Amino acid sequence: MNNEPVQDYTAVWDKCLSIIKDNIEENSFNTWFLPIKPISLKNNVLTIQTPSLYYYEWIEGNYWQILKSAIRRVLGKDGKVEYQILVTSDNTMVLPPSGVGNIEAQTKNININIDENTSQKEIPNPFVLPGLKKLNIQSQLNKALNFDNFVEGECNRLARAAGYAIAQNPGTTTFNPLFLYSGVGLGKTHLAHAIGLQTKINRPDLTVLYVDSDTFMQQYVEAARGNNINDFVHFYQMLDMLIIDDIQFLSGKEKTQEVFFHIFNYFHQKHRQIIITADKSPAEILGFEQRLLSRFKWGLSADLQPPDKETRMKIIRNKLYNNGISSIPDEVVEYLSCRIVTNIREIEGAIISILAQSSLNKKQITVELAKQMIDKFVRNTAHEISIDYIQKVVCDFYNVPINELFSSSRKRDIVQVRQVSMYFAKKYTDLSLAQIGIQCGKKDHATVLHACRTVENLKVTDRKFKDELDSIDKVLKNS
Ligand code: ADP
Ligand code: MG
Repeated sequence: MNNEPVQDYTAVWDKCLSIIKDNIEENSFNTWFLPIKPISLKNNVLTIQTPSLYYYEWIEGNYWQILKSAIRRVLGKDGKVEYQILVTSDNTMVLPPSGVGNIEAQTKNININIDENTSQKEIPNPFVLPGLKKLNIQSQLNKALNFDNFVEGECNRLARAAGYAIAQNPGTTTFNPLFLYSGVGLGKTHLAHAIGLQTKINRPDLTVLYVDSDTFMQQYVEAARGNNINDFVHFYQMLDMLIIDDIQFLSGKEKTQEVFFHIFNYFHQKHRQIIITADKSPAEILGFEQRLLSRFKWGLSADLQPPDKETRMKIIRNKLYNNGISSIPDEVVEYLSCRIVTNIREIEGAIISILAQSSLNKKQITVELAKQMIDKFVRNTAHEISIDYIQKVVCDFYNVPINELFSSSRKRDIVQVRQVSMYFAKKYTDLSLAQIGIQCGKKDHATVLHACRTVENLKVTDRKFKDELDSIDKVLKNS
C-alpha cells in the first residue's frame, strides 16, 4: 500500500522506553509503558498502540511530558507520536461464562502532534471540507461505548430506557431533547454514544454526530475567525441527530450559546433528535441564557446516580470479562465494589492496573493485589473513610503497632483493638463482614459479627470504654 521505507520502529520505541524508565517509578513504568506496542514509524511519526482508551487517557494525563521529551530526544524536534487504541468489543454478554469469547479488535487512531503545548485530539472539522457530502460525515461515535456493555441498574434505569427508546424512534419520541446529567464518571458519555450507535444500527440512513462541547466551541471560534459561521451552522443543520456532551463547558460563552440556540430550534422544528449531557440538571446549571435553559427542559431530563453495590459488582465482572478475564475470585470483585463507590471510571482504572500488574508480574489476582493497586492509583474520592484509615486511627489511639492487628495474637489488648477496628469498619465502610474479617488478620465473618456485638455491649456497660469509642469516633468523623 505504501512505498515509504519502514524505519525500525521497535528500536525507536525501545530507546524511548529506556529514557522513560530512567524518569519514572519502576512500578508505573511496568504498568503503563510495558503494555504499549510500537506499530510503525513513518515520516517521523511513531505510532504506538495502547491496550485501551483508558491507557491512552492515563498516559496523556500523567506522562505526556515525559513521553514528549523521550520522542524528541530519539526522533528529533519534529518527532511525533500517534496513538492507536485497541478497543475490545464483545457485544453479547454481561456476566462472564467460562472461557473467553471472541474478542474482536478494532483500532481507533488518535493523532497527536507533540509540538503543541496541550494535548489535542485531532478531530476533523468536516464542515470546512469543500464539497462535503452528507454521507461523508463521520459520527465520531466510539463503538466500545454501546448498550451491550452499559450495565443497567436502578441508578440509570430511566436514562437508559429513554435512550433506548430514542434509538428506536429518533426525534419522534417526546424525549427531545434528552438531557442527561450526573456527577463525573457515572456514564453520561457512555450512554450518549450508546444511543448514537444504536440509532445507526436501527436507522443507517440517519446522520448522527457526537461532539463534545469544547470541540463545538472551538469549531465555532474557528468558523467565526474565518467568517464561515454560515457553513458551520449549515453543517450542523445537515445532521439528523446531534449528541452534545458536557454542555456545561458552554457556560458563559454567549456567542456559542447563541449559535447553538439556532441549531437547537432548527432541530426541534424538524423533529430531529438532540441529546445533551451536563454535570447538573437544567434547573441547577449556571451561566446559560434563560431561553436555552427553558428549552433544555422541553423534553426529558434524566439523571444517572452512583451505582449501588450490586450494579458495581456487575460492572466489575463485565469489565473484567471484556478484558479477557473470565474467572476472578468473588472476594476480589466484592472488595473492589466496596472500595470504589462513587465513580465508575475509577472502577475501570483499578481493574486495568490490576490486570496489568497480574499479567506482567505473573501475580494471581488477589484481594491483596487489588488493595495495593487501589491504594496506588485510585484517589480516595468523596472523603470516604477507609478501613486502613480506621485501623490506623484505632491503633494510634491505643498505642498498638498496626502489624499486631493483622497477627494472630490473642492477647487481650490486641483482641480488643481488633474488635474496635472491626466495629468502626462496619459503621463507616460498606465492606461486608467477610471483607472486614479478611482485612483484620484473616478472620471470618462470624468473628467480625461477634466483635461488633461485644463492642456494642461493652459500650453500654463500661463508661470508660464508651468515652474511648467516642474519642475515636470524633477523629474519624473529622478526617
Ligand atoms: P461521565 O461521562 O458521566 O463522566 P463516562 O460515560 O465517561 O462518565 O463513564 C466513565 C466510565 O465508566 C466509562 O469507561 C464507562 O464505560 C464506564 N461506565 C459508566 N457507566 C457504566 C455502566 N452502567 N456500565 C458499564 N460501564 C459504565
Ligand atoms: Mg463524560
